[in-house]
Amino acid sequence: MRRRSVGTARILMLKRRSFKQRRRSEIVFFLLLVIFITVLLNLDYNPKEKGIDDIPRGRNESVKKNHGWNLVLVNSKNPLPSNYSVNLETVQNNHQVDSRIAEYVRNMINDAEHDGVQLLICSSYRSVARQQELFDQQVDKYISAGKSYDEALAETVFGLAMPGHSEHNTGLALDIVTPDYQILDSGFENTKAFEWLDKNAHKYGFILRYPKDKTDITGIKYEPWHYRYVGSEHAAAIKEKGFCLEEYLEQLQ
Ligand SMILES: [Zn+2]
Repeated sequence: MRRRSVGTARILMLKRRSFKQRRRSEIVFFLLLVIFITVLLNLDYNPKEKGIDDIPRGRNESVKKNHGWNLVLVNSKNPLPSNYSVNLETVQNNHQVDSRIAEYVRNMINDAEHDGVQLLICSSYRSVARQQELFDQQVDKYISAGKSYDEALAETVFGLAMPGHSEHNTGLALDIVTPDYQILDSGFENTKAFEWLDKNAHKYGFILRYPKDKTDITGIKYEPWHYRYVGSEHAAAIKEKGFCLEEYLEQLQ
């Protein structure tokens, strides 16, 4: 009799304990659910923005210091200043540049011609609206080729700057080819035009803006056709030191 009552009390105690344990795990589960929902609500998930933020765009940093109009830095971290305005002048065919560099562009083209080399501008000043158009077209092209939106965005950004982040928006950059080779790829470096530019562009104030060994800093692929005006003194120093513009500005600060 006594044995049975001890047994019953024990069963009751065990039942109570398992009820308490169940209750505790229910509370823990409920708390976890609340935390999960709170985190989810705060994420404000936007796949488009996430795609852009995830793209590695070189280790260029935001540069605050102003070194003058010819050293303006425009890259993925440094957009075109909002008050930026440019006076344009036509230099070759319908190509326009900042009027302050027009003379140097013409001299460079003429002197190259004297040396038997034809420099052909294929891209010059580009408005931010035009940059947006080109950017969207390129993203669409990659998507049509079967890439996801994020992949298309990543590939586009490596080859084409985002609107407001392109040097072409400044009027200080030129894409230069030659009549015999008008494709924008690394094969341009095997042309006479590239050889001439590599040797002489700095004398007219231009630098090869996206060198082969600096893609991790510029965030832009090697572009043997893209030249940027910085002024002959800076261009000579940049060439001599083997810097890209980001590195040069870093040590000027
Ligand atoms: Zn370019």
